Amino acid sequence: MELIDTHCHLTFEQLIGVLEQVLQRSIAAGVTGWITVGTDSQQNRKAIEIAEKYENMYAAVGIHPHDARTVTVETIEQLKELAQNKKVVAIGETGLDFHYNLSERPVQRRLFAAQLKLAAELNLPVIIHSREAFDETMDILEDFGSGVKKVVFHCFSYSPQQAKMVLGRGYYISFTGVVTFKKADLARQSAKIVPTDRLMIERGPQTR
Ligand SMILES: [Zn+2]
Ligand SMILES: [Zn+2]
Repeated sequence: MELIDTHCHLTFEQLIGVLEQVLQRSIAAGVTGWITVGTDSQQNRKAIEIAEKYENMYAAVGIHPHDARTVTVETIEQLKELAQNKKVVAIGETGLDFHYNLSERPVQRRLFAAQLKLAAELNLPVIIHSREAFDETMDILEDFGSGVKKVVFHCFSYSPQQAKMVLGRGYYISFTGVVTFKKADLARQSAKIVPTDRLMIERGPQTR
């Protein structure tokens, strides 16, 4: 079986100097491709650089809800430029995180909507990060995501009922290694109801 790690952060500083080993370990485990996901302007640039270096490596560019506070007026324009690189396969990660609230909620909402509009304009899929913000995430997707081609909820932590709503919209659902945690019963129950053609996998747990 060939596995694609659809959500990794190979540009984070914890991996400096050990990236080759990490990639070798993932290849040994059956991984044949990677999507390294950007979280802010600097990480987006690095994600493209690394994707250009390796054959089966692709990049996603976006501003993480945690990093929404770093945004300036130029951010979306820069994002638009970067997103047109041929190794970029998605906008993300973007979304809402009302668990940590590292950025103010109105800023998170505005930035999420702006990135959905950009994805629709560039005809790219979107990688969603959503934590303790299910209803708002679904509402903003409904209001601004109508032109978006494909949507995946990454590191899914919501209930099976909520998973059904996500699947009902035609979206994809991705799980991290968190599903193996003792406490992660809810995510495990959700994983059971996602059909394999709508299921994605990723490394994890991760900090973003
Ligand atoms: Zn995330
Ligand atoms: Zn992430």
